[in-house]
Amino acid sequence: MRATVINAPRDIRVEEVPDAAIKESGDAVVRVVLACICGSDLWAYRGESPRQPGQRIGHEFLGVVEETGSEVAGLKAGDLVVAPFVWSDGTCEHCVEGLTTSCPAGGFWGSVGSDGGQGEAVRVPFAEATLVKLPAEAASDERLLTALLSLSDVLGTGHHAAVGAGVKPGSRVAVVGDGAVGLCGVLAARRLGAERIIALGRHTVRTDIARKFGATDIVAERGDAAVEAVRELTGGKGAHAVIEAVGTEQSMRTAVGITRDGGAIGYVGVPHGSGTGLDLGIMFNRNIALRGGVAPVRTYIPELLPDVLDGTIDPSPVFDLTVGLEGVPGGYAAMDDRTALKTLVKL
Ligand SMILES: [Zn+2]
Repeated sequence: MRATVINAPRDIRVEEVPDAAIKESGDAVVRVVLACICGSDLWAYRGESPRQPGQRIGHEFLGVVEETGSEVAGLKAGDLVVAPFVWSDGTCEHCVEGLTTSCPAGGFWGSVGSDGGQGEAVRVPFAEATLVKLPAEAASDERLLTALLSLSDVLGTGHHAAVGAGVKPGSRVAVVGDGAVGLCGVLAARRLGAERIIALGRHTVRTDIARKFGATDIVAERGDAAVEAVRELTGGKGAHAVIEAVGTEQSMRTAVGITRDGGAIGYVGVPHGSGTGLDLGIMFNRNIALRGGVAPVRTYIPELLPDVLDGTIDPSPVFDLTVGLEGVPGGYAAMDDRTALKTLVKL
């Protein structure tokens, strides 16, 4: 089969690799129909998170079950399914408590020895616990299928940040980060009943999507000027709930600055760079809470799926470039130079 591998920073190739195959009785093989490229894939692309030459890449996909192992009862060949960005066993203490990302038996697609999502097929361990079945009729609706793909990562991750920030009906929310996750944070905050949603960003393509997703205000400033602007919009106090979806020192510092005393930050940006941008003394004095991390999207899919299916929320506008499998290297380059927000891969 053909799949995407990373050989070195900025060296992404689509190559012939061994077919995905059943290894354990709980496995399934999924033929990928839609995949995409993630902002966090760009850290490997830019050489900021190390990969082994020839390692697979991609962690977001949906597709059709092609084969199942002998112990898989709830899934059969032909089922349309979406996969969260990690697999998990569904039975350990962490999984039972909903934190599938800490499952000791789990793993990330594209980690050494596993298939990546940007390929023709993927071997899925613990298939019944990991995969979520989708209605068969969704397969013929391209916009809906694209929206459903966001359940694999960005929608659940945006939701995780909104939950971590304590968004509830009537909340005043601010969102740091105008990538697909930040934009899905806007959508998640609106879904949870936020009254006011301030999106920080300066690219009209992205801020237009933020408005479409429910943002009531856009702040184009950065750094201290952004803090001032958000405070001005919130009676000098800041936002109750702040979503941080970038992971840099600067973005975390801004997040602290725009949070109202007693408020909370939900952080989902993969931390990178030297410092954290967090000053515990300031957070202590102002009673600012911090909650978040790698998002257990498998836990959120059952809650979010009905709203995507009936169109209450439609995250599909975050995908603004579509390529075939052989076009994946170009899809990375377009996201890297920010001419694309998120690349969809159609197989
Ligand atoms: Zn587990």
